[in-house]
Amino acid sequence: MNPSQLSEKFINFVGQTSPYPPTLEVSRGEGSWLVSVDGNRYLDFISGIAVTNVGHCHPHVVTAVQAQAAQYAHTMVYGEHVQTPQVHLAEKIVSVAPAGLDCVYFLTTGAEANDAALKLAAKRLTRRRFIAFTGAYHGDTVGAMSCFGSDHFRNQFSGLLADVTFLPFGDTSAVKQINDTIAAVLVEPVQGEGGIILPPPGYLQLLRDRCTETGAMLIFDEVQTGFGRTGNWFASQTYDVIPDIITMAKGMGAGYPLAGVLAPRQLLYDFAAVPAFSHITTFGGHPVSCAAGLAAMKIIKDEGLLENCRNQGEWLIKALMEVAVQVPQVIRNVRGVGLMIGVETASEQIARSLVDDCRARGLILETNLLQESVIRFSPALNVNRVECETAIRLFADALKAL
Ligand code: PLP
Repeated sequence: MNPSQLSEKFINFVGQTSPYPPTLEVSRGEGSWLVSVDGNRYLDFISGIAVTNVGHCHPHVVTAVQAQAAQYAHTMVYGEHVQTPQVHLAEKIVSVAPAGLDCVYFLTTGAEANDAALKLAAKRLTRRRFIAFTGAYHGDTVGAMSCFGSDHFRNQFSGLLADVTFLPFGDTSAVKQINDTIAAVLVEPVQGEGGIILPPPGYLQLLRDRCTETGAMLIFDEVQTGFGRTGNWFASQTYDVIPDIITMAKGMGAGYPLAGVLAPRQLLYDFAAVPAFSHITTFGGHPVSCAAGLAAMKIIKDEGLLENCRNQGEWLIKALMEVAVQVPQVIRNVRGVGLMIGVETASEQIARSLVDDCRARGLILETNLLQESVIRFSPALNVNRVECETAIRLFADALKAL
């Protein structure tokens, strides 16, 4: 089948998420590179949006997946049978987690993990109100979408959604709206889809203190920031603030579907009691995904990828700032932490045309869901300096051609 026929069938038979998919026809992935069906090579600087943290098809991940797939894939719904890769991965995650978060409830997607965390908080406190933030994205299930900090998306589903009050992210004066009617505060430590927005110094600690005062639970959505993206296993460690619950997905499965709620063991027992089975899932903690996740954690440790993430991230931010000062009318701001970097351009049109031109030149970048003027750079944590230099050169070329 020739490439254009493939894309035509993709449009006709595969349900679409938007009217304008980029239709890159992928043949294979290798490290930080994607190769298209027609043989072109693309430097992947988004990693499937912070998913392939150890690159595409790392040989140790491939071996682990093949071995597990040959052993068993599914034997029983989550939580019933003892599945070795699940047990080892949970133990490994707990060993690098912030103190007190000592048990993992496995799920499959980030949205599902956030739903589970909201349910846990509501159940423990018998409170039904939540706090979330403008510019937040937590996923598209009904529960997670209740906390979507965008009227544009949420308004389509009013009536279905939970009782959520939205605070401006980073506004310290609004924090007093967290009171003793609130079950939980759900927050991304660094807003991803909102445009790579970093928390102001002390802000996450302020949320922590206010939650402790009012008894509300603090949930960090680390679906995007987790598994090394900010230069530590969790952003909670980067900002030195320990929440009551961390939700995880994306990089957790190294490209395979996997998510989880990381919380104190006692709290997670609420799902197993009164009533038993109050949060069940068939595919949670799929053994093949857990084997991949376990291999990825070993790679991150053995190959020093947390340090590499910090080093390459610092270099990239500096290089992007040097590019930015030459075009102040095009680039307004460069910001980021680790390898979670945003370049704010002057308009959505500029960002879109830069992303499209970069793709034509062989560099994959993307804008953010809620801030389409911001271009994200989130390469794999094992990206090397030559690849970073190549990305900067291609981006600078696209800027010159604007
Ligand atoms: N939370 C954050 C911070 C995200 O960035 C995303 C996805 O982009 C989600 C939750 C939803 O995850 P999933 O697409 O796996 O449901």
